[in-house]
Amino acid sequence: MNLSMAFLLARYGRRNPVGSLVTLSIIAAIWMFGQWVASSRDHARIRKEVERNGGKLISILLNPSASGWLRSLEGVYEVTFLNRGDQLVLSTCKSGLFSGLTWLDQRILEESKSPSYSNCVKCGTPMPGVETRCAKCGWSYTGPIA
Ligand SMILES: [Zn+2]
Repeated sequence: MNLSMAFLLARYGRRNPVGSLVTLSIIAAIWMFGQWVASSRDHARIRKEVERNGGKLISILLNPSASGWLRSLEGVYEVTFLNRGDQLVLSTCKSGLFSGLTWLDQRILEESKSPSYSNCVKCGTPMPGVETRCAKCGWSYTGPIA
């Protein structure tokens, strides 16, 4: 190593890390902004889809491990909502910049708690949300037992 090389290293060795840091910060800022845009776009899209089906949105959580680091292009979300029948539903969906919203999986966490759904109108016996006929007296939404 000659003297001029040492001089150059001393000069640019000090300047370059700062320059790279600034570049990295700008890239990070753009990336974070992209995440934010993607996340608000996905949230709006999911809310719209849930409400279009007569549901009530409770929460949207990003699944970072399923989304990967390219989640500004495609994110996987765990969505909790009350559906039209008042059931608490946990759903997984994928929202992509180009692919739109795709529902991957859906399961009911809790049956309806609404009194009109869970109690027999005639005798008051609790009825699960999916039942249409009272187990005790036979009353049903569709009519009495023939
Ligand atoms: Zn009954």
